[in-house]
Amino acid sequence: MLRLVPTPIGNLEDITFRALKALKEADILLAEDTRVIKRLLHLLSQKYGTEFNPKKILSFHEHNQHRFLENIEPSFFDSSVVYVSDAGMPGISDPGSELVRYAQTHGIPYEVLPGPSAAIAAFVASGYEGEFTFFAFLPHKGEQRAVKLKEVLSHPYHSILYEAPHRLLKLLKEIRDIDENRELFLAKELTKKYERFYKGGAGELYERLKDENIKGEWVVVITPAKKEADIEAILKLDIPKKEKAKMLAKVTDKSIKEWYKSLI
Ligand code: SAM
Repeated sequence: MLRLVPTPIGNLEDITFRALKALKEADILLAEDTRVIKRLLHLLSQKYGTEFNPKKILSFHEHNQHRFLENIEPSFFDSSVVYVSDAGMPGISDPGSELVRYAQTHGIPYEVLPGPSAAIAAFVASGYEGEFTFFAFLPHKGEQRAVKLKEVLSHPYHSILYEAPHRLLKLLKEIRDIDENRELFLAKELTKKYERFYKGGAGELYERLKDENIKGEWVVVITPAKKEADIEAILKLDIPKKEKAKMLAKVTDKSIKEWYKSLI
């Protein structure tokens, strides 16, 4: 049996009962970083008095996962195997999906325990609602980063990004240069002592944060391009379809005729 087990993203008390039980019952612990899981087990046993005695703790990360899976037999999972990434949900901007696919291919029973994830916590903290897309990290630099950011900024739904602290200001500046007033929500150090939330236009947040201490972990939620918000608002209006089509044509590339056709 394989279990993907989420771990806290900062606050130790966010470990779930099921996660504790799974860690306690694990014969084999696969960990993104064995030092991180050992430290976590130590802190958890101090806090909850629980004993963890896995027979083995093995390293399973982005760079060895393929080799690892090529070198085991499906019977490896006859014992209780738990996978933990460094923090939060495995498989969310972390390894985990390869293990799930291995289990699916080889008919190995598996469970995914729900738990903390920075993307979800940040989206809920933003107060935005509706659809969103998780883009994880942008490419770090160059043309690839610029292209991806453009895609994100023209995306019709809310976009969630992870960003390293040393690139956060760069990101805010890049967004400001394209769309100064684009509203953003920033979540810093979720669940930790210095948790902070910021909401405002890209230009405004850049000015506000450029002289602040931005060390720590960040999630950036980007609101959809104004055009999309306008479309949604117009669609909700209680006015004749012809008028609606006229208004929609003004804020989009589609003609009045095309809009009218799709409205009826
Ligand atoms: N698997 C994790 C999850 O479920 O959220 C994400 C792992 S990803 C490699 C690490 C990134 O997640 C960080 O660089 C940061 O952008 C974000 N992150 C993780 N913990 C966070 C926290 N406590 N507050 C804000 N962002 C966090």
